[in-house]
Amino acid sequence: MDGSYGKAVMLHPQSFRRTGSQALVREINLATIMRHLHLHGPVSRASLAEMTGLNKTTVSSLVQELLEYGLLRETGLSTRGTGRPAVLLELNPDGGYFISAEIGVDFISIICANFAATILWRHRENISPRQEQQTILNRLLDLLDEAANLVRQKKGPLLGVALAAPGLVDRQTGTLLFAPNLKWRDVPLRELLQTRFDCPLFVENEANLAALGEYYFGPETGSRKLLYISAGVGLGGGLVQDGQLDRGASGFGSEFGHMTMDPEGEPCNCGNRGCWETQVSQSALFRDIRQAISAGQTSILTRMTGGNLDRLNVPLVVEAARAGDPVTLSALHRVGRYLGIGLASLVNALDPDRIVFGGILSLAADFLLPAMTAEIRQRALPYLRGSQPAQVAIARYGVDACVMGGVAVCHQLIVNQPAIVEAGIGD
Ligand SMILES: [Zn+2]
Repeated sequence: MDGSYGKAVMLHPQSFRRTGSQALVREINLATIMRHLHLHGPVSRASLAEMTGLNKTTVSSLVQELLEYGLLRETGLSTRGTGRPAVLLELNPDGGYFISAEIGVDFISIICANFAATILWRHRENISPRQEQQTILNRLLDLLDEAANLVRQKKGPLLGVALAAPGLVDRQTGTLLFAPNLKWRDVPLRELLQTRFDCPLFVENEANLAALGEYYFGPETGSRKLLYISAGVGLGGGLVQDGQLDRGASGFGSEFGHMTMDPEGEPCNCGNRGCWETQVSQSALFRDIRQAISAGQTSILTRMTGGNLDRLNVPLVVEAARAGDPVTLSALHRVGRYLGIGLASLVNALDPDRIVFGGILSLAADFLLPAMTAEIRQRALPYLRGSQPAQVAIARYGVDACVMGGVAVCHQLIVNQPAIVEAGIGD
């Protein structure tokens, strides 16, 4: 799908040693088989021939090659039809493994997944943005080592490592240029990974990866234009157009959280004022609650935090909302409204057919969605919303959307260029 990934990060260019147009056609056909099995497996060789338009002999030969790479496996027999039952093929879950990590503003999350995108191991821990950058990076390296040990035990190849960060990432060099909420600048993240791994490496913006994760493995694969919004400490976004991340001309697009919504508004960590993020992030929600309480309103959150409102977190807020706490409900209503107001503008500007809402604030979706969808319905142009207002879905992977996106980007590379496995990556 996105060939530029391969170009930017391939560490094994020798794997493209086949030359000439025939070889190129074979590479393309191998990818076609992989894509069909990813989307439609398990299927028989005959069905693959039917679906791809390739002749049966070619399909058998391609399948044989992929079986030798360990990327496919034969599984059971088809009971459909009246003829001889056919052997079914699917992507081999143990064909290889992926490690995907996310540096958040206040957490590190890491998973190890197999080739079926099943999470085999996960770890998430809180960090403080006030911690030294090197301390956080050292902790990340320890966790990456732990994941790599697990892959070693599995004895399968490590097919890719992805790392996401909450800021602007130069994908060519794998450098995190600027993370406003961490106040990090020019961190050479790919170099860090290269000290540990000899396999395809990806460094990406977290919301971009989350958007891809929701698209690639989710029920959204039929979407023409998926808009992903991630609300946490900050507000991030990603756009997937026809299966490919749309990053904009310079590669730093989709920073929807920094659209100016109020020129006289609160200062934002990016240096601007009144960004959308200052109205609808987790910090904005907590700020509203604290302000209401300090203005004399009573809330059960005072008791739930032991009187220390610095201890506020989203699960506590959800608990207070479920208990019907008026201060919490009104703060959530306001955040939901402003989310909807921004989204209505994005619907008008981008015309998405699917909106997916993720990030830690999506835990409070039950309380945010009514106001959010009401604003979209009211404000989006009637021609764009059609008879059906743009549908907002909650991220299928929730807080794992980003790390699943990391798995997606690694998986996508192998599906598109399966022959790189021949070069023995990650063995
Ligand atoms: Zn901003």
